[in-house]
Amino acid sequence: MPSLSISPSVPAKAPLLAFSPLTDSHGREITDLRISITDRCNYRCVYCRTGNEGAQYSELPMADYLRLARIFVGLGIEKVRLTGGEPLLRKGLIELIRELAKLRTPLSGNPLDLAVTTNGHLLEDQAARLKAAGLSRITVSMDAVDAETFARITRVPDSFEKVQRGIKAAQKAGLGPVKVNCVVLRGFNDDQIVPFVRFSREHGVIVRFIEFMPLEEDRLWTPGTVVPFSEVVARLEQFRPLVKLPANSSGETAVRYTFDDGLGEIGVIAPVSRAFCGQCSRIRLTSDGKIRTCLFSQFDHDLYGVMQRGGADAELAAFIEKTVSQKEARHHIGEPGFLKPSRSMVHIGG
Ligand code: SAM
Repeated sequence: MPSLSISPSVPAKAPLLAFSPLTDSHGREITDLRISITDRCNYRCVYCRTGNEGAQYSELPMADYLRLARIFVGLGIEKVRLTGGEPLLRKGLIELIRELAKLRTPLSGNPLDLAVTTNGHLLEDQAARLKAAGLSRITVSMDAVDAETFARITRVPDSFEKVQRGIKAAQKAGLGPVKVNCVVLRGFNDDQIVPFVRFSREHGVIVRFIEFMPLEEDRLWTPGTVVPFSEVVARLEQFRPLVKLPANSSGETAVRYTFDDGLGEIGVIAPVSRAFCGQCSRIRLTSDGKIRTCLFSQFDHDLYGVMQRGGADAELAAFIEKTVSQKEARHHIGEPGFLKPSRSMVHIGG
């Protein structure tokens, strides 16, 4: 079993003086950290990866992610989502979660809200151990409810049933309600919206439709490939009258709905047609230890470089604070002069 030898045996301590959370120069509190723990993936989704094999991968030792996470939490991060690449490919994931679950947020002293985003391919075997290690919630990315469309998008045959079993195992392990994220691409899976609604209602999962963003390795994105919020909502309304649900938190990205009979929950996440940058509370750590202040940043901030040069925790914390202060006000998708980020979603961490 991999050991996280430098892991803290005690939670990060709350400072004695009044605590001021991480805040960017636009007044947004940054409470949500996404850590990509690998940029390897066992899928090659058309909207994310290139079809070519042979990519280079970069991963840090799990103990280094833990040390960095601990410093972020000490600065006021309350939610940590482990992502990738495919996080369930990483040995030591369970141990990392066990250590992260020991941390307490400085403001409230509560445990972290600890989540994983996975494609579900390896979930059946790991769900119970993830829960036992202290995972709070899980999101499964699944872009179709029929096996054929699913294989066409993921470019992996015979995984659909495994993902179904993974979702059931997560529910059985007590990781429910499981969220299922579907990126909607015109011409690929926009016929799946109503079948997904039925899936939500039958299986007790929260389905969230996400607009396709220009973050893929290939050049597939055009404005026409995006199925916008208004169109998704219109299709949901055709199924049954929608009832809007209140947001769970101020930084929530999904607009939430149920139906007039109260069965099923659907979220629509519209970063392209209804950008929510004004409420953004996120920051990302890439699998090679760089901070990304926005999915669409043109820059990486090399936190790991500071650590490799022997930076003490206080130096790393100062670097994080300075980087957060440089967080962009908003993205510019669809505007003239928009530049696609140099790295795709699989490298940044979704
Ligand atoms: N492998 C894990 C998974 O499948 O959930 C985690 C990594 S994946 C990059 C994280 C999320 O990003 C997935 O829900 C995926 O659908 C989403 N994603 C990837 N590329 C995207 C794009 N161009 N636009 C919108 N969502 C995207």
